[in-house]
Amino acid sequence: MNFIRRGGRSFLLTLLIGFCCLASTPAGAASKPSEGFTRVLKSGYEFYFSPARPRPGQALALFCRPADDRDPGFSRVVFAGRDFPLERVPGGQMTVVAIPLGTRPGPQTIKCEVATPGGWVALEITVTAHDYGVQKLTLPKKMVTPMRPETLARIKRDRKLLHQVYASSGNQLLLARPVKPPLQAPLTSPFGRRRLLNGKPKAPHGGIDYKAKVGVPVPAAADGRVVLAENLYYSGNLVIIDHGLDIFTLYMHLSKFNCRAGERVSRGQIIGYSGRSGRVTGPHLHWGVKINGIFVDPLEFARLSRLLLRPPWTKANHS
Ligand SMILES: [Zn+2]
Repeated sequence: MNFIRRGGRSFLLTLLIGFCCLASTPAGAASKPSEGFTRVLKSGYEFYFSPARPRPGQALALFCRPADDRDPGFSRVVFAGRDFPLERVPGGQMTVVAIPLGTRPGPQTIKCEVATPGGWVALEITVTAHDYGVQKLTLPKKMVTPMRPETLARIKRDRKLLHQVYASSGNQLLLARPVKPPLQAPLTSPFGRRRLLNGKPKAPHGGIDYKAKVGVPVPAAADGRVVLAENLYYSGNLVIIDHGLDIFTLYMHLSKFNCRAGERVSRGQIIGYSGRSGRVTGPHLHWGVKINGIFVDPLEFARLSRLLLRPPWTKANHS
């Protein structure tokens, strides 16, 4: 979301709090697709994960199965201090681990807690450094004015609402097909770009911005359940879809909704129309993917999603 308002007194402090995009700089396509799984045997468990060397801001698909069929597997998976929900799949379990932006490149450990008799299995991965680029912005200090109390109250209310929405995901992946990015339009702001405002680091861009005029139909990127269709201060008209396992897609700044909270939607179904609501400089579609509270590169996640649909050992049996 772009959020330099045209006119108005209190608009620039929003820059200090917002986390989205600031300018319309043409951006290249995202990086190479993540292919296949890496297989690791450890402590009587077989792990399959992809990509082999994830970078900060990427999701990692993780499947695991015990050597002993009677072993119930893991009760939880922990990375960067967060618990990632596990889903039972034929022959084992799976989860999607989000690698937060800001994760230190190099060796990292995904901890898997054994259900019985307890204890942990440490899965070592290597996080690869990635430069998402930086955007510098300089503004006169006098232009940064305090926000009105009612605006602050609204932002607080929005945060509370979002917190509730993100707590609502189930332990079952709702994807029947891979994620399909909602538009084919050029990107005006890529994922992960760091921002420096008057030399101070601000939150990086948590999604991608598509060039889109007002009124372009916006399809759901994947099957799921609409958990929010409301107007928020920064995001404007925002739709959030839950895909299970704490995986959400977000569609911001819409001009119009075409769905309701609670509704089941399928991939390709029009859930709204692009617009310029919220804190933006012009119409565009901000599309985001949030996994367990962590924004990941949505285009990378779309590529990865085809690997989530069936366990890799199932595939191997048929090849
Ligand atoms: Zn944006």
